[in-house]
Amino acid sequence: MSPRPVVTRFAPSPTGFLHIGGARTALFNMLYARHKGGTFLLRVEDTDRERSTEAAVAAIFEGLNWLGVKPDAEPVFQAARADRHRQAVMTLLETGHAYRCHLTVEELEAERERARAEGRAIRSPWRDRVHNDPDAPHVIRFKGPLEGETVIDDLVKGQIRFRNIDLDDLVLLRTDGAPTYNLAVVVDDHDMGVTHIIRGDDHVNNAARQTLIYQAFGWEVPAMAHIPLIHGPDGAKLSKRHGAQAVGEFADMGYLPEAMRNYLTRLGWGHGDSEIFSDAEAVSWFDVRDVVKSPARLDWAKLAFVNAHYIKDADNERLADLVRGDIARRGETLPDGVDRHLATLIELLKEGAKSTLDIAASLEFVIKTRPLSLDEKCKGLLTEETRARLSRLAEHLAAVEFQREPLEAAIRAFAGQEGVGVGKFGAALRGVLSGGSPAPDLATALTALGRDEALGRILDAVS
Ligand code: GLU
Repeated sequence: MSPRPVVTRFAPSPTGFLHIGGARTALFNMLYARHKGGTFLLRVEDTDRERSTEAAVAAIFEGLNWLGVKPDAEPVFQAARADRHRQAVMTLLETGHAYRCHLTVEELEAERERARAEGRAIRSPWRDRVHNDPDAPHVIRFKGPLEGETVIDDLVKGQIRFRNIDLDDLVLLRTDGAPTYNLAVVVDDHDMGVTHIIRGDDHVNNAARQTLIYQAFGWEVPAMAHIPLIHGPDGAKLSKRHGAQAVGEFADMGYLPEAMRNYLTRLGWGHGDSEIFSDAEAVSWFDVRDVVKSPARLDWAKLAFVNAHYIKDADNERLADLVRGDIARRGETLPDGVDRHLATLIELLKEGAKSTLDIAASLEFVIKTRPLSLDEKCKGLLTEETRARLSRLAEHLAAVEFQREPLEAAIRAFAGQEGVGVGKFGAALRGVLSGGSPAPDLATALTALGRDEALGRILDAVS
């Protein structure tokens, strides 16, 4: 039999934001499908009607879209397939792989207590009995084997064995006819032709139950890869106190989607010691079998390093739009004069920026309006001698082309002419240009301000 074409899927439950752990699972599914020339699908697991919200569905779509994780077909909504799920349960009933269980809530509770006390799985007496009124209130349970083992050859974790006797007879259909989660997952994965299930390792226990359901239907069990969760830098489960969890938070913190893609792919997976790689390289290298078994830890310094790399390469107009967004989120706007040549400014200021927020912060000194208020430190530097020197410098710079290199040369030449080192007036110059805000090196700061503004700031301070 020739192997089936690879189909993977990401199957989020829309109960909140898109967690970066989920985003990485989605990414791994996409990469593996692309690597194998297969198909990557998206399924929204909204069977839990109480916990699923439309806002969460929108947040998940938005997060995936931002990250550039795009399914190859329209998303499937699980809740819309409830009739198909019910029909599948009827098949199991007909083939003897399921039964109607008429335990009342109290009876079930009593059995749960007994099972707990005896250290065994719950068993319903209805497993081998038929009620004389099949319409009497009931759930439909899976009739699992009581002997033998269920073995999962997990592509990441290796072989995992479960004793069937330990697995209770799971409810497939509730009293109100609503299909349950594990049943829906199996039927959907089968109907969608999924060949590889790549998901978080919090689903390992479901894997055994789902495998039994596949076998009862006589369907081929997909390959499974359970990947470890993402932990915080301290090794604890990622939580609020680690700074961020939702993909949207990372976007707001000024990370670029391509940097996030690269970083998340590298988290728990690697190709030699490559830290920076293109999407095409990720596709050609990625195999889910190479995902490491232990939980990956979020490393902010590494993420910043990767982001800085992509910022350096990014188009300045695009960065300008992102920076405008960052500034707007702070409730501020750029002055027209700055906004007009923002992309040019960004080219000057993006060097070393670890996020677009860094770029926005580095614009602060440009945005100020004259006359700047100088801090005490700067005032202290402006001695009589330094004022006179800065005034001569302003004259000297008036004839210089306001570009980084000529300015750098001019400052050096000026220092030589004055018979001092640049250090003698550099700090004061920086202070009068920036008003104490963070600023880049002198030549860059001058270029970013432009001739009129820069010379105006110097003269304001020395006159
Ligand atoms: N809906 C599940 C979740 O969000 C994933 C189920 C699966 O991938 O099989 O955790």
